[in-house]
Amino acid sequence: MAQLSDDCFALGGPMRSVDEAVALIVAQLSPVDGAERVALGEADGRVLVQDLVARLSLPPFTNSAVDGYAVRGEDLPAGEALPFEVASRTQAGMSAGAPVPPGKAVRIFTGAPMPPDADTVFMQEDVTVDEEGRAVLPAGLKRGANVRPAGEDIPEGRPILPAGRRLRPQDVAVAAAQGLTELEVRRRVRVAVFSNGDEIVEPGRARGASQLYDSNRFMLAAMLRRIGCLVTDLGILPDDAGAIAGILEQGAARHDLILTSGGVSTGDADYVKAAIDQVGSMVFWRMAIKPGRPVAMGVIKGCPFIGLPGNPVASFVTFAHVARPAIFALAGAEWRRPVGAQVRAAFSYRKKSGRREYVRASLRAGEDGLLEAVKFPREGAGLLSSLIDTDGLVELSEDITTIEPGRMVEFMTYSSLL
Ligand code: AMP
Ligand code: MG
Repeated sequence: MAQLSDDCFALGGPMRSVDEAVALIVAQLSPVDGAERVALGEADGRVLVQDLVARLSLPPFTNSAVDGYAVRGEDLPAGEALPFEVASRTQAGMSAGAPVPPGKAVRIFTGAPMPPDADTVFMQEDVTVDEEGRAVLPAGLKRGANVRPAGEDIPEGRPILPAGRRLRPQDVAVAAAQGLTELEVRRRVRVAVFSNGDEIVEPGRARGASQLYDSNRFMLAAMLRRIGCLVTDLGILPDDAGAIAGILEQGAARHDLILTSGGVSTGDADYVKAAIDQVGSMVFWRMAIKPGRPVAMGVIKGCPFIGLPGNPVASFVTFAHVARPAIFALAGAEWRRPVGAQVRAAFSYRKKSGRREYVRASLRAGEDGLLEAVKFPREGAGLLSSLIDTDGLVELSEDITTIEPGRMVEFMTYSSLL
């Protein structure tokens, strides 16, 4: 498991920008050690350990890009169309066969290897066949047309995938095209998740009049699994610092991260903080982000701890923008700040400068076809409906103070954040 010193997050101090806080957190975390070889069918979403370099050129042999007629470049009709006798025929999967004789053509199909000496293919749509069965090839085609030279896609020796790539379906495809059957990937990051608070109950159990069902834990576990983590569900821990401390200590020994939401804000009945102080240490990181209150960062016996705010929307936003990059660092995965699309604001908004805000919004096409972001009508950080009824978040950077309808803003879809 990760070995961090108790004070590695004890940076305290002034309010930090999200980017600065994330950079500081990520700098403290190193990738989990341990790798495994997985079959390509299991590789999607896993993190590549080493650079993948092409050991085979793609395409591996020069072939036709179209169905048509292959000829030698020196025979190309210059001024007018010319009839060519068809010497032979070749299809995908067949061997390249004999060289194309001077002045003749070879009937060829997409993916078939180019016959020796041929370097140009006429598309069958551009060719007519005369009464004698000859292919009448038009003038004006460029030498080399409609041919896919060996290695034009990826030459042997070219780096294809970087270490740290979270594999996507197209990445798995390129590994398969190289003839590989397995890839070496990092072991999955193990994360323990719990909730805390006397007002929180387990779905399915009896609920007191002033209690609500735990929703965050299920959201966080789902978000963790989407990014490839192995999740241990520690349930809802009681308001008993001693009991929490014991569970956290055990959890820390077997996980790469402990993640929670709620019960760790500065004003709370501080059972979680007290528990962590018994077995490790914890500090509040004041980040200039809304929705989102301070995020608790801690270390328990070398294992990092992240405590997100309890309000579901604050939990969601701080997971996406703070916890997720931290988990990528543990996973050994490259992380880039999500980039949104520029869309037109269909709302007005005022905010404090110096703070980054995320506005829940839906997309619609404006009258001119340009996409517009429509703000969810209410703002509470506790409104689950605001996450359900919208398509994503408009990111308003620190320097912005007002938004008027019509201004271009950066929109991030939920799927780009999950
Ligand atoms: P806290 O961060 O503990 O002050 O919690 C802020 C708000 O989030 C309170 O209204 C809590 O009841 C609520 N909350 C805390 N934990 C959860 C949870 N696991 N699921 C849903 N709501 C929660
Ligand atoms: Mg609470």
